[in-house]
Amino acid sequence: MKADNAPLVIVGAGHAGGRAALTLREEGYGGRLILIGDEVHPPYERPPLSKGLLQGTAELSGYSLCDSARFAELDIEHWAGNPVESLDPQRHRLQLADGRGLHYARLLLATGGRARRLTSVPERLANVLYLRTHDEALRLRASLQPGKRLVVIGGGFIGLEVAATARALGCTVIVLEAGPRLAGRVLPERLSHELLALHRSQGVDVRLDVAIEAVQGDTRAESVQLVDGALLPCDLVVVGIGMQPNIELAASAGLAVGQGIRVDAQLRTSAPDIFAAGDVCEFRLHPEGVFQRQETWRNAENQGRHAALNLLGHELPFEVIPGFWSDQYDWGLQTVGLISDTQPTASRPLANGGFLMFYLDAERRLQGACGWGQGNSVAKDIKLCERLIANRSCLALDALADADVSLKQLLRT
Ligand code: FAD
Ligand code: NAP
Repeated sequence: MKADNAPLVIVGAGHAGGRAALTLREEGYGGRLILIGDEVHPPYERPPLSKGLLQGTAELSGYSLCDSARFAELDIEHWAGNPVESLDPQRHRLQLADGRGLHYARLLLATGGRARRLTSVPERLANVLYLRTHDEALRLRASLQPGKRLVVIGGGFIGLEVAATARALGCTVIVLEAGPRLAGRVLPERLSHELLALHRSQGVDVRLDVAIEAVQGDTRAESVQLVDGALLPCDLVVVGIGMQPNIELAASAGLAVGQGIRVDAQLRTSAPDIFAAGDVCEFRLHPEGVFQRQETWRNAENQGRHAALNLLGHELPFEVIPGFWSDQYDWGLQTVGLISDTQPTASRPLANGGFLMFYLDAERRLQGACGWGQGNSVAKDIKLCERLIANRSCLALDALADADVSLKQLLRT
């Protein structure tokens, strides 16, 4: 049952949801538009939470997508601090935590994810912190004082970016990673090695293949006990062991879910008039590809925008080149396209110890690339790689490996 004149509704006022709301107005949608979020803040981008915000160089206003005044101007109703508790796809109806019910004409689910909990750590320990939201980042910032002993559990992006910032702020840092290498699920081996060498050179005690026995303390964590017997005294523990997609609302409404909310090429879920976007969205990059989720800024931005167009009835297939970046100390890594943990097909050295790695298919067409270099130095090359991927032209391996052959030149040929 669809109510006449019902609004377009977005559940999840994060990056993807916020971008979708703004795009709907940019595209001329003039009807009632409601953006519902369980956080109290206007939608914001999360990358600064583990970098600039902790360092004191970024503030919420700098990475918000939009402030309340602009929402009012655009006539976007932002219902903040109000989780949606249930969804009835047949009746096109939502139930909110504050008791309100709401009909929608079309709905976007952009519910993102939450930090995965380490179940062996008691929740009562006040100095064990997770990092997903602005408020959690503020708490962490207040705790990162010079001389504090920080134990980071998880050597993925959160763990490594927090470790880098904490070192810069004068903390002593131990990183405990369960796997045999850092960020092993998403990065090629060579980048894991570079990250390991970089963190160790900055004085971080990185331990791989580690299993945690217990985090000890009554009200505060005092030490971390490892299965191998080591006891690591600490003032603060940060847990960064992955993200859990917020699929429960969709799953209990009977929508198709896997590791995320399943969508078709137009980002449409299995229920009529409901779309999904961002970290929570499980989609196929190609019609014959496997279902996957992407937990990146770029995906939230692109899918938020794209879902908005399809909420308006455009029926556009979602076809984009993925990518992500991470900044640690004064080094940066960037990826574009499809990379894997296998050996790259070719690589080329860059100045000051940086490099580019290329992944090609059997026809020698570029599928993906990643770069490692100081500051933002690889950004230009990665942009050129994106154009090479889009071009689908066949490339010579020796030219890719030769730092004297510019990528621009390869684009022209
Ligand atoms: P989110 O931003 O998580 O937004 C979802 C929102 O929906 C949340 O506010 C959530 O509370 C809300 N919500 C959930 N359920 C409900 C409900 N039932 N009712 C109402 N609201 C609900 N990516 C990069 O590419 N590069 C980086 O350097 C980078 N750094 C990052 C650093 C940190 C600390 C984190 C946490 C992430 C980082 N990312 C980075 C990843 C990127 O930020 C995410 O991929 C992106 O935020 C996903 O956006 P989203 O809108 O899908 O989800
Ligand atoms: P992540 O990137 O998935 O990394 C989690 C790491 O923790 C993995 O290396 C994992 O090892 C390890 N781990 C899992 N269980 C463990 C345990 N019990 N003990 C020790 N190590 C354990 O997740 P994250 O770093 O927590 O980041 C959360 C989200 O934020 C992700 O969506 C991420 O993409 C996003 N984020 C992105 C960036 C960026 O792109 N620059 C920066 C910050 C955050 P295994 O793989 O072996 O399980």
